[in-house]
Amino acid sequence: MAMLQFTDEQIVFQEVPGEVSLAFTVAGCPLGCKGCHSSYSWRSDQGTALTPLYLQHRLDSYKGLISCVLFLGGEWQPDALIALLELSRSANLNTCLYTGLDDVSPALKQRLTYLKTGRWHSERGGLDSLHTNQIFTDLRTGQRLNHLFIRQ
Ligand code: SF4
Repeated sequence: MAMLQFTDEQIVFQEVPGEVSLAFTVAGCPLGCKGCHSSYSWRSDQGTALTPLYLQHRLDSYKGLISCVLFLGGEWQPDALIALLELSRSANLNTCLYTGLDDVSPALKQRLTYLKTGRWHSERGGLDSLHTNQIFTDLRTGQRLNHLFIRQ
């Protein structure tokens, strides 16, 4: 089975509203958005292997401290991503995918709690912009949560 690799791993508080997320920046995004903030991660042959075993170790160490696992990319290798999502769900964690695509397969969505869609257009801005093309959805309810990203 194809494997995903990641360039960054961190605990984040803002990317998924109301959740403490363990976030992985997956190497190899093929979309090539102009002005991408993580263009250093475009090459897929770099970083650390994001195997189920590796993820299980991280979930064990963060047990009780995180509520969600966030994948920044990885949808281009759905089987590998699905295995990681299932592991996260088995640990009773919510899951989120940030993709530059406008939609992903039902097989992925079934295993996701949250989904951010839409590529980066610098003139439209990200989720904290009122003019963004990007959409953040709670897939449990179908509710769009973009308003939670707008600074008051
Ligand atoms: S989808 Fe995201 S990671 Fe991929 S090129 Fe666009 S901004 Fe960069």
